[in-house]
Amino acid sequence: MSTIIYYEICLDRITNEELSVNNKIINMALIQVKNLKKQYENEEIITKVLHGLDFEISKGEFVAIMGPSGSGKSTLMHILGFLDKPSSGEFMFANKNIQDLTDDEMAETRNFDIGFIFQSFNLLPRTSVYDNVKLPLLYSKLPAVEHDKYVRDAVEAVGLTHRISNLSNQLSGGEKQRVAIARALVNNPSIIFADEPTGNLDSKTGGQIMKILQDLNEMEKTIILVTHEKYTAEHAKRIIYMKDGNIHSDSKVTNRLIIHEGEELAK
Ligand code: ADP
Ligand code: MG
Repeated sequence: MSTIIYYEICLDRITNEELSVNNKIINMALIQVKNLKKQYENEEIITKVLHGLDFEISKGEFVAIMGPSGSGKSTLMHILGFLDKPSSGEFMFANKNIQDLTDDEMAETRNFDIGFIFQSFNLLPRTSVYDNVKLPLLYSKLPAVEHDKYVRDAVEAVGLTHRISNLSNQLSGGEKQRVAIARALVNNPSIIFADEPTGNLDSKTGGQIMKILQDLNEMEKTIILVTHEKYTAEHAKRIIYMKDGNIHSDSKVTNRLIIHEGEELAK
């Protein structure tokens, strides 16, 4: 099966944004969250972190989840990325209620439909760029004969073909984050989550990473960027602002910042 045909099948797995019912066009969300709550329970101590969130995210959006440290951004990202479950409320992903999924089905969705990028890169050290990027394919259903091509395409997409055989610990911070982006892309996921992806980088390399994210979004990838910085969030198209576990505001970015080749992520 060719890559393109395979990718089209992947895209078909996700409900289209627009579904025609009785000739009416209905806007279908990729993510729907209703009264979502999360509390942690450790040794009889209950910490309430998310207090009942409501929002929708459609395919192709570029959303920043912004807010001060401790406001619940990472907790929300972990739930939306199938790394954790809500305590109550509803979370629908591609029209499936995640409460109905088994742990295996959750893991499958996570491996197949979602790519993650973290502030600390989370690469395997003393392991080549090639093998780091290949890692998610070990759990995927993409045909094994195509794996080599997927890895090389993803590495090329982040401009690191000349480093493909290097060990990850021989790379600069910006290069490491590009490897992490290639690893997030290799399964052709429906959504990419990036938790403070430029947090450990200088403004020049931060600019390179943001440009890749904006370019991916231009190619219709849905991106959810978690950040505590306003100027970083303003590179997205919409900002969900969290405060103390609630949504304080949710609005379109009016003067969106676009990064061009070689520009810094200016503060
Ligand atoms: P942010 O990413 O916005 O900085 P987090 O989602 O990491 O915020 O954390 C929100 C709150 O939840 C913090 O007060 C944090 O201490 C608390 N928290 C996060 N994880 C746990 C946990 N596993 N157990 C108890 N409290 C937690
Ligand atoms: Mg966080």
